[in-house]
Amino acid sequence: MGQRHGHPGDADVSASDLVALVCCDLGAIVRGRSLFSSELDAQLEQGVGWVPANHALTPLGPVAEPNPFGSIGDLRLLPDTDTHVRVPADQGEPALEFLLCDIVETDGRPWECCPRRFLRDTLDELEQELGGRVMASFEHEFQLLRWPISDRSPSALPFSLEAQRLAEPFATAVMRALVQAGVAPERFFPEYAAHQFEIPVAPAEGLASADRSVVLREVVREIARRLQMRASFVPLLTPAEAGNGVHIHLSLLDADGKSLLYDAARPACLSELAERFAAGILRHARALSALTAPSPVSAARLAPHRWSAGAVCLAQGNREALLRIPPLVALGGGDPERQLRLEYRGADATANPYLALGAILRAGLAGVREELPAPPILEGDPAELDAEEAERYGVGGLPASLEESLQALAEDRVARGWMSPLLYDAYLSVKRAELDAASGSDVEEVCRRYAAIY
Ligand code: GLU
Ligand code: MG
Repeated sequence: MGQRHGHPGDADVSASDLVALVCCDLGAIVRGRSLFSSELDAQLEQGVGWVPANHALTPLGPVAEPNPFGSIGDLRLLPDTDTHVRVPADQGEPALEFLLCDIVETDGRPWECCPRRFLRDTLDELEQELGGRVMASFEHEFQLLRWPISDRSPSALPFSLEAQRLAEPFATAVMRALVQAGVAPERFFPEYAAHQFEIPVAPAEGLASADRSVVLREVVREIARRLQMRASFVPLLTPAEAGNGVHIHLSLLDADGKSLLYDAARPACLSELAERFAAGILRHARALSALTAPSPVSAARLAPHRWSAGAVCLAQGNREALLRIPPLVALGGGDPERQLRLEYRGADATANPYLALGAILRAGLAGVREELPAPPILEGDPAELDAEEAERYGVGGLPASLEESLQALAEDRVARGWMSPLLYDAYLSVKRAELDAASGSDVEEVCRRYAAIY
């Protein structure tokens, strides 16, 4: 048995932890390879091997066929040491340790289909054109399931203290683990659906905000697993219940940390730039959904009166709008400029967070470039508008299915240009394979399958 430098010998192997080098793939599944943590330092510059066709793997298991990669090529997963996560061992469970990676060619050049690169390029463009840095946070909802999923005990009442206490010791353990993982969780609370919870986290700059979204999901799943449960971020567990959303909160700061979105003198305190940015997101909303809500169960969550995103419009406070301006809380000396943000409510956890955030930002940037007019700020229920009012408020519907979302992306010339042809082809091959696999099953069955994956 060969022993290399730094490789734990037979004697100390039981004392050595594993550390995983991972990436988040096009279907938002975290995949990678583990090594002994004693070997990590030696691998930081070379990473570990990876295969292009791994980005054609579907969340359902098999590789999508056809796909643009085939059996050819080699890549590296190159760890970003800013993302080193370690949740300590607990009661016989080993520590969870991983680093998020960029996917690069073997000579170190970025790989064209790397999702982190997609977001990085977008952030660079935004900074060059608008002089703005993005601050964002991903607000996740999920449901705690016992395994198997059918074996669910009755849930306590929505938002009740009892529901929270019944979630112990998970609630305390998960918040501690998220702090240890550097995710900066802010709250823990029971949500509306059975066994549903939400954990908002503090905003972070651009890439780090999407990293946090990946880390949060994995840490939540880990702590649930340690307690013989499963945490599912599936967009919809059962069609009769509220879904699990991912709401992406955005602000843009200039070099001095001042908000580029804030103008106290204008409606809803939105600057002209913010209005154009919002208008871009709304204009490209149907195409965007192919990247932000991209599973066969995603569209069913985004129907009216689910408090998800029932309509493509901008609103203040209103939880039926795709784009919401959350309240500016004056209480306790709250600073409105620091609080002002746009909340994109149309994402879910089947979306790769780097692609989702990157695409939303590109849509906003397109709106600024085209100097789009300010979208009206809707008051009231978008579903109640008659056709003429809906037109006036620019209210439209989101695609009713993944097929429609992919069609909208194909038809939106601007949005199509956000992805390189290879990334677009790979993405479509995964999504088409998911659609094929879901065809012929009813929505309940597809929800069940996706709940076991996400
Ligand atoms: N569960 C809702 C969704 O699917 C969100 C509810 C809320 O937090 O406003 O997005
Ligand atoms: Mg919520």
